[in-house]
Amino acid sequence: MATINSNYDKLGGGYLFPEIGRRVRQFQAEHPGVKLLKLGIGNTTEALTPAVIDGLLAGVERLAHVETYTGYADDSTGETEMKKALQLFYRRFNVSLDLAEIFVSDGAKPDSGNIQSIFGIENVVAVQDPAYPVYVDTNVIAGRSGAFDARTGQYQGIIYMPCTQENGFFPQPPEEKVDLIYLCSPNNPTGAVATKEQLKIWIDYARARQSVIIFDAAYSAFIKDATLPRSIYELDGAKECAIEISSFSKVAGFTGVRLGWAVVPQALVVEGAPAGKVNWLWARRQNTFFNGASNIVQAGGVAALSDAGQKECQGLVDYYMNNARVIREGLQNLDYICYGGVNAPYIWMKTPHGLSSWEFFDLLLHDAHVVGTPGVGFGPSGEGYFRLSAFGHAADIEQAVASIRDHLKRQ
Ligand SMILES: *Cc1c(COP(=O)(O)O)cnc(C)c1O
Repeated sequence: MATINSNYDKLGGGYLFPEIGRRVRQFQAEHPGVKLLKLGIGNTTEALTPAVIDGLLAGVERLAHVETYTGYADDSTGETEMKKALQLFYRRFNVSLDLAEIFVSDGAKPDSGNIQSIFGIENVVAVQDPAYPVYVDTNVIAGRSGAFDARTGQYQGIIYMPCTQENGFFPQPPEEKVDLIYLCSPNNPTGAVATKEQLKIWIDYARARQSVIIFDAAYSAFIKDATLPRSIYELDGAKECAIEISSFSKVAGFTGVRLGWAVVPQALVVEGAPAGKVNWLWARRQNTFFNGASNIVQAGGVAALSDAGQKECQGLVDYYMNNARVIREGLQNLDYICYGGVNAPYIWMKTPHGLSSWEFFDLLLHDAHVVGTPGVGFGPSGEGYFRLSAFGHAADIEQAVASIRDHLKRQ
């Protein structure tokens, strides 16, 4: 008799984007012809840059000839040229990595979801609240939680670390001992960026307890302030306690192309496993479950990391960050309280007049025809907040901000 993984039945809380879709479809059915301005999903909209296109085309061209054709890679953890390009990328932050510490993948979402599988089921998981939903959901599916408690909006057994105005949207370590700690900086959804001092507290905590930090740096290219860390390995001791996951999705527009990477340092130690073991486990896991990132796409990734590619990608980042400025300043001019949007492409606004996240969602949809994301969908501490994304065409962003100004001003 086959049975299902009944942990999936616990996933009651994960209804955010389907529910947004349902409300948007209902609105459009009732108001045909109204153009909606979507600042909801964090999805890139601008074309790939010329150097990257050249790299991808060169990758295709190599497959067109028997002399240069390649099939399966010998090792699914990435092509040497790609790993070397990432090694050079990290040198810019004074971080030196062995090629064997770099694992190329098809994205940061799969990596941040899969990484938990190399750790024991008994590990206690801690997440920022609010957080990117993948961290919690994948640990629920793996069986590291109890039931979802609709009253608290939390899964039992998972430690939620509130990120609020009071702590600058970055948590202190909790009282209890936690083993797997997910940190995302620059943060989706709050747009907050951890300082070196804030990360050091966590590194000290993790090293003292042999805990592991899973550091999601998918938005590191959006950091403009040179004093803020763009990799956790800029801090001493991080290699002993942190795995870093990152992506080409947001910086190079690879959301549909698919390319990311994980760094699993040889020096990482966990209870009962010597240095090197966790690195070996991730290699073993990837070689079993994954046949490597597309060779064409890796050629595009190498091009994105070239000097020309980096310059062009910075242009993409600047484009989206100008959108972020337009949203932030537009809302601040209307006396809304906003966070983020300076070193991250998300604006985290406080809903006005104590409205709930979903009440404000409906108001914005019906009165301004703007779609955003209710903060509570990212965790209970997101209640009373709302996320606006800077990913979009500049003209649409300006129209959305103008519409908010014209229709919500006297709320
Ligand atoms: C967009 C995003 C990613 C990127 O995922 P990919 O699978 O590489 O597209 C990872 N983490 C966070 C927090 C994100 O918002």
